[in-house]
Amino acid sequence: MKTEATEGTRRQGRINSGLREVWEGFKLLSKIDRSLGRNSIILGFLDAVVPLLAVYMGARVIQVLTSGGDIMKTVLLAITVNLVLTLLAKWVNVQFDYGRMEVWRKKDAAVSDKLMEVDFEVLEDPRTHEKLNWLRETEKFFDYGLAAEAYYAKSIVRGGFTLLIGAIMSARVFKVPLPGVTIPLFLQNTVFIALIAGINVWCVKLAQRGVSQLDELSQSEARSINLLFSAYWPYWGDYSYGKDTRLYTQKALKSGIAQVPELLGNVYARFLGYSTSIGVKNAAAQIATMGLVYGFVGVKAYYGLVTAADIILFAGTVTLMMTGLTDSMQNYSKALLNTSYIKVLDEFLNLESERYQGTLPVEKRDDNEYEIEVKNVSFRYPGSDKYVLKDVNLKLRVGEKLAVVGMNGSGKTTLVKLITRFYDPTEGEITLNGIDIRKFDYQEYLDLFSVVFQDFKLLSFTIAENVAANTTYDDKKVEEALKLVGFEERLRNMPDGIRTYIYKDFAETGVEISGGEAQKIAMARALYKGAPFVILDEPTAALDPISEFDIYTRFDSIVQGRTAIYISHRLSSCRFCDDIVVFHEGRIVQRGNHDELIKDTEGKYYELWSAQAQYYKEQEIDVLL
Ligand code: ADP
Repeated sequence: MKTEATEGTRRQGRINSGLREVWEGFKLLSKIDRSLGRNSIILGFLDAVVPLLAVYMGARVIQVLTSGGDIMKTVLLAITVNLVLTLLAKWVNVQFDYGRMEVWRKKDAAVSDKLMEVDFEVLEDPRTHEKLNWLRETEKFFDYGLAAEAYYAKSIVRGGFTLLIGAIMSARVFKVPLPGVTIPLFLQNTVFIALIAGINVWCVKLAQRGVSQLDELSQSEARSINLLFSAYWPYWGDYSYGKDTRLYTQKALKSGIAQVPELLGNVYARFLGYSTSIGVKNAAAQIATMGLVYGFVGVKAYYGLVTAADIILFAGTVTLMMTGLTDSMQNYSKALLNTSYIKVLDEFLNLESERYQGTLPVEKRDDNEYEIEVKNVSFRYPGSDKYVLKDVNLKLRVGEKLAVVGMNGSGKTTLVKLITRFYDPTEGEITLNGIDIRKFDYQEYLDLFSVVFQDFKLLSFTIAENVAANTTYDDKKVEEALKLVGFEERLRNMPDGIRTYIYKDFAETGVEISGGEAQKIAMARALYKGAPFVILDEPTAALDPISEFDIYTRFDSIVQGRTAIYISHRLSSCRFCDDIVVFHEGRIVQRGNHDELIKDTEGKYYELWSAQAQYYKEQEIDVLL
């Protein structure tokens, strides 16, 4: 007994949590697209009412015909009511279909907003990308996603209203006992309802089993094949791979991709097989129900206990209830499966952004009296137990120029990522004018920095929009920034000046620019921002040492008065700085100016300098020595 009760409670719990999950899915849909959520309910209601009303009106006409009344008036009323409701339903349907077609854009807008505001740490986290890929691959299947959710919501609402209104409409037939049957009326009705319900339960179970089979196919097999396809996609869709694919990888790609249609074809054949088998069994259940319904009401009619109008009303209503129930249960099962999609989307849209939790405003200071201090900072990347920074102490005083040098992988970029709060230190703290930077409003805090990273990115927008990082800008300021970084001459050759598009993604007239030119635009962007802290994190690493040295020294003369950090693995590039810190394996191992540091022949600086100078000597690049 105890086990049964527990099983019962468990089942009830499952149903409740299922309903809750489906409800959550509907809430998320409405949050992303209010009107689609609303239309799915209105349409569900109208889809229930329109056919029921048609049945009712049909029965009314028969009743008037058989028992007398104003037939013209009844027919006219039937046609008018039907027409009005059908038109209304069609009108809502158009909006509903349009909404379903467009809802993915609204979802994409919500997803892209999230991706842009979310902590960098979360953005970089492979789990975030896993979620995104999963969502993208899952919504390729018709049964998943928000458009599907809207459809399920409509069907469930329709089923609910059909049952409710149908029960009221057909109540009359249940009040009359079957002739010649001695068992009480209550029991007769119960047996009839139990039989109908039994068939329905069977149908629902069938649907659920079928749906989970289909789901398994789409989840495990088809999705992984699609993932494979998506992984290949950039290799031919993105022209930056074009040269390499032509030279090296074409054959490998072709044979890789050739397997996709074959694999998918196999999965879809099974898909079709399952769907057909469910369809056939459902049809059989419908026929059995119809037989029962007509039997139940037919006998009563035969003995004159109910009227012809009652037969029409009852048979029509019960059929609608039956199809409504099967359909809504089937869609409920699918909605349950769709909750896997909904949950991931919801999780994604609710990703926490700790960086945004600071509230303290950053004091605006014309004198740029900002001081940043890195205090006993150690850092491990999330999920890694290796310290990439260990016990780093550093003070950046106003107007100071600091060079950070060290071999690749010594932790220089990581330090910049901590200063800009892309990550928070694992140990220690970073302060701005003595206050932990975590306390500041993040956007205001970020406004203090102009950083040019090694892997900076430009957008395929106009040069001016890139420099201003905005669609509105001050022409003069943009031109001035470009001039300062030495882009003036190239600009003169641009077809539309600062309004020339770079790259061809958005404009046919877009121009291709070289890596060096891109760097200049990126540096102009940093200058345009006019932030009190400027950081160059090796955006010039792809250039030769002389060009890097030139750019660094030139940049230094431009940003006079601001605090600047120059990062490089080439010691020569930062030689002009009075204050150089040397990083090695995540620690600051030396600090001083070039002349002081080079004197310590046991030090890392000397070691690196000698190794690099050796190369310059071989190349006879005296200017760097
Ligand atoms: P540098 O700028 O001096 O070349 P980085 O700060 O980029 O060095 O890297 C320091 C160390 O941190 C390297 O060992 C690198 O592999 C590791 N690292 C960099 N980024 C990540 C990351 N997102 N996750 C884990 N480890 C990382």
